[in-house]
Amino acid sequence: MSCSFDLDHYAEILEAGKVGGYRFAHFGNGPERGNIYLRHDIDLSLDAALRMAELEAEHDVSATYLLMTESVFYNLASSEGIDAIVRLRDLGHAVGLHAVYPSLQLDERFDPVVSWHNPQADYRSRSIPGVTNVYAEPFFDPPTYRSDSNQHWRSGCPHEELRGGGFPWLQILVHPEIWVYEGATMGLTMRAMLNAEKARRLEQLAADDIVLD
Ligand SMILES: [Zn+2]
Ligand SMILES: [Zn+2]
Repeated sequence: MSCSFDLDHYAEILEAGKVGGYRFAHFGNGPERGNIYLRHDIDLSLDAALRMAELEAEHDVSATYLLMTESVFYNLASSEGIDAIVRLRDLGHAVGLHAVYPSLQLDERFDPVVSWHNPQADYRSRSIPGVTNVYAEPFFDPPTYRSDSNQHWRSGCPHEELRGGGFPWLQILVHPEIWVYEGATMGLTMRAMLNAEKARRLEQLAADDIVLD
């Protein structure tokens, strides 16, 4: 099995979790033994989030999508953003806030779950009353945490340990953009994303009655 950052291997990771006897759980009570807390911080693309969400639903997997209200790359208040939240919920996923410190506006769109965007060490793991901070206890512990940040698993791709039931429980951070758009490096993957985005933007311009001749 090659640990490439594409949707085929992503599906293999999900299935490895099932073979290892894990359940896909939402943040809240716990963490319980045998739970996988599959988390997606959506930094760049709602399109990528939705494609990953559909794939997970096909595999009977439920995840937590943390969305930004202050992204420079997408607008959660637009019709596209509103539809994305509806679709994520319809597919059985949880939706929380990917917040930019110190702003923490948890309105009715979100479950009380927060991850900080590019957090600094001094507030990253601070607990927040009434809210689950995914970087705080009890859900954050380095031995039971894996992240694909910048297309690199710092402690290795987790598929083998998942298949063997090696983790008591696990929080996994997966950025959909890295898997939906393909490239051998983060730079190439981002360029693939921008090419797809350009095509999508041209369609949006045409739909907005902009003459493109
Ligand atoms: Zn792998
Ligand atoms: Zn982020």
